[in-house]
Amino acid sequence: MNIQENISLLPFNTFGIDKNARFFAIAKTTEEVNQLLLKAKEMDLPLFILGGGSNILLTRNIEALVLKIEIKGFDLVGESDKDVLVKVGAGENWHDFVMHCIQNNYAGVENLSLIPGTVGASPMQNIGAYGVEIKEVFDHLEAIDRNTLKLRTFSSEECEFGYRESVFKHELKDRFVITHVVFRLSKTSHINAEYGAIRQTLAEKGIQSPTIKDISDAVIEIRRSKLPDPAIIGNAGSFFKNPTVSVLSFEKIKSEFPNVPGFPNEDGIKIPAAWLIEQAGWKGKRFGNIGVHQFQPLVLINYGGGDGIEIKDLSKKIQDSVQEKFHIILHPEVNFL
Ligand SMILES: Cc1cc2nc3c(=O)[nH]c(=O)nc-3n(C[C@H](O)[C@H](O)[C@H](O)COP(=O)(O)OP(=O)(O)OC[C@H]3O[C@@H](n4cnc5c(N)ncnc54)[C@H](O)[C@@H]3O)c2cc1C
Repeated sequence: MNIQENISLLPFNTFGIDKNARFFAIAKTTEEVNQLLLKAKEMDLPLFILGGGSNILLTRNIEALVLKIEIKGFDLVGESDKDVLVKVGAGENWHDFVMHCIQNNYAGVENLSLIPGTVGASPMQNIGAYGVEIKEVFDHLEAIDRNTLKLRTFSSEECEFGYRESVFKHELKDRFVITHVVFRLSKTSHINAEYGAIRQTLAEKGIQSPTIKDISDAVIEIRRSKLPDPAIIGNAGSFFKNPTVSVLSFEKIKSEFPNVPGFPNEDGIKIPAAWLIEQAGWKGKRFGNIGVHQFQPLVLINYGGGDGIEIKDLSKKIQDSVQEKFHIILHPEVNFL
């Protein structure tokens, strides 16, 4: 257990922003998390918990102990005729976990293939893609209370999952370090191929009865064709959440913009933020080292050497122009630091 000083976080965030951590340490076990939390208390240091750095925007040097979670392991902790319970270390790479499930024929996470980041961060914003969210396969998680250093279990209900939301982004923000997540995966796969792009990709391949591997392959293909790879160009995926508006507001927008896409949900109508940003004229715009992706306007990018503050300012301008044009407030999905 080694605490390093003044470490560049450039290799640890997918936006590729070069800011420093005043202190930096890696925890590979629950015990090491405990020891480092204790150490941070003794040194009176604020703390930032880091996973894969794929959902953060660094706007400054971090005057804190940045604690990178690298707890590994997949353990089968329960099994019935229908399903399995798999306990996964928070530091496991999310996509490796999905691949582990596919190899073992455990269904439920195949639509979430290729999402960057760690398993420990997945409940933070209830990650989701292609019609599936982790809350559907989540059983419980284990986390250490940063104040008392006690281990606590959270059920799905206690996590208060919503669309890219959980209790850990609100009432319990910065209170817990997630060490393990336990997923309930199905042995009898019930494929979710409803999403248009998945159906189309399967049809192109002539697959009529897809396996979970077929779904995963299709999702990987779609994602590779649509989203910029952070290994090549800095980004944190979708920068904003898709807003939901009332039916009345939607009708009002539709009267002015007849092509507005809308997807009904329990709260109203969800409008793709990418469409709003494109209509506001931002698609493909470049400003020095940063910009808005040319095909996917929901993704802000760092061409290299860009600064977090510049990206934050650009995001504010996008929010303002969308609000002015559509009276809709876009909320960031990315965590600003
Ligand atoms: C190209 C690209 C595509 C993406 N596509 C999707 C997508 O389809 N769907 C989706 O939902 N997201 C997507 N994302 C966002 C991102 O992959 C997820 O939010 C992911 O879960 C972040 O994981 P991470 O380990 O990188 O978290 P980090 O960025 O390291 O951290 C994110 C937040 O979680 C906290 N945190 C991390 N680990 C822990 C822990 N163990 N305990 C307590 N707090 C913790 C951090 O403090 C921070 O507040 C995408 C990102 C990129 C770059």
